[in-house]
Amino acid sequence: MNYIVLDLEWNQCPSGKEHENPLLPFEIIELGAVKLNEKKEVLGEFSKLIRPKVYHRLHHRTKQVLKTDFKEYLKAPGFLEVIKDFFNWCGDEPYIMCTWGPMDLEELQQNMDFYKFNNPLPKPLYYYDIQKLFSLLYEDGKSRRALSYAVEFLHLDTNETFHQAIGDTRYTARIIQQMNMELVKEYESVDYHRPPSNKNEEIYMVFRRYAKYVSRVFDSKEAMLSDKTVTTTRCYQCGKALRKKIRWFPGGNNMYYSLSICPLHGYLKGKIRIKKTHDGKYFSVRTLKLVSESDAEIIRKKQESIQAKRKMKRKKQSE
Ligand SMILES: [Zn+2]
Repeated sequence: MNYIVLDLEWNQCPSGKEHENPLLPFEIIELGAVKLNEKKEVLGEFSKLIRPKVYHRLHHRTKQVLKTDFKEYLKAPGFLEVIKDFFNWCGDEPYIMCTWGPMDLEELQQNMDFYKFNNPLPKPLYYYDIQKLFSLLYEDGKSRRALSYAVEFLHLDTNETFHQAIGDTRYTARIIQQMNMELVKEYESVDYHRPPSNKNEEIYMVFRRYAKYVSRVFDSKEAMLSDKTVTTTRCYQCGKALRKKIRWFPGGNNMYYSLSICPLHGYLKGKIRIKKTHDGKYFSVRTLKLVSESDAEIIRKKQESIQAKRKMKRKKQSE
């Protein structure tokens, strides 16, 4: 299995969000990739600028970070030509995409959709988020560091240009070369650009530290939150259906929490994150994690404080 390390640079509407094309908020103008084999040896590189079609000036923030003159982009081939070349270059050998953070594959597919390019990536699309793996290996698993931080942390040569697709890709590839992938290889991420469209496509992933479920798409939040598959909690260690100590309660920011207990394995913290699809529907990502007694207490406190707030609000409304 090869690794295809990918990095993109994109532009956004220079005259502000209210004037953007909603089908293409972020227009890719640079694609860099490095191919590594299983031993993490470099097999080849891909580096192309892309001529923009939608935004003909750079957004001020993009202008600040990009190292290439905008005139160079205007001379470059268009997206369709580059994306075809890119997938040819990826080759027939099985590969897994690797990116720094979860954004690049989302934007890549959004751009493919915009150009009605038939998405050749597998569904579900598993990939390695190297930013996440870096945190799992060297920090607490939750931190998300800038690429430059990781480069410095691992004492890598800084002879490449940051914020240039091929430069960032080379750095990310070097970080992979430094990592003990054996320790983190199970921590694949799954891309949410094309969420499961039916029950058969729903995704279940079990890791050492937690389990994840991605629901199919629903028309409304209400329908989703009353669906048994979405709300049932099972212990991911023994498979037992669990009794809830605290039923799902809203915790703000489209998050819901619960607390269950497995007689064998202890407390499980449940978290449901509600996500919106590009066409205004909903799906959810549920994670279950075995937690300590004190973590369970934190969830209890959280629920109590939210309940108290709601009571206050109701009281105010009735006054
Ligand atoms: Zn259990």
